[in-house]
Amino acid sequence: MTSNTQQLAITFTCPCSHGHVFASRSALEQHKRTNRHQAWENRNNSNAADLTRRDNRILQLEAQLEYQTRLNEDKVEVIGRLREQLRVAVEVPSSNQPHLSNDEIEELVRKYERVKKTNVELRRKLVRVQSELADTFQDAPLPQD
Ligand SMILES: [Zn+2]
Repeated sequence: MTSNTQQLAITFTCPCSHGHVFASRSALEQHKRTNRHQAWENRNNSNAADLTRRDNRILQLEAQLEYQTRLNEDKVEVIGRLREQLRVAVEVPSSNQPHLSNDEIEELVRKYERVKKTNVELRRKLVRVQSELADTFQDAPLPQD
C-alpha cells in the first residue's frame, strides 16, 4: 500500500564516514569499494578477530585455572592425610601405634615428600596461569563505539 501523504526519507550512510550522507544507494555501494572504506573494514575485522582470540584465550585460561585449582586442592588433601599418618606413626606412644615397620614409615615419608613437591609445582603453574589471565585482561583493547 502506498500513501502520498507520508514520505519516507531514506538516508544512505556508512559507519566509516560519520555524518556523511550519500546521494543514493549506488553512491553508497560505490563508496564501499573505495580504499578509505576498505581500510576501515579491514581494521574493524581485525579488531573483531583480536577480540575473539582474546575471549577464547580467557575462556581457556579460566578453565585451566579451575582445573589447576582443583588438582591443587586434591593434593592439599592428600598432604593432610599423609601428614596425619606420619604424625601417628612418629608421635603416638609405641604401645598405641598401629603396626608400621620402619620401611613403611620411610615409604610414607617418601610419598609425603613426593606429593609435597607436586603440590609446589602445581602452585607455580597456578600462579603462571593467574598472571597470564591478568595480562590478557590488561591487554584488552578499549571497547570501540
Ligand atoms: Zn564506508
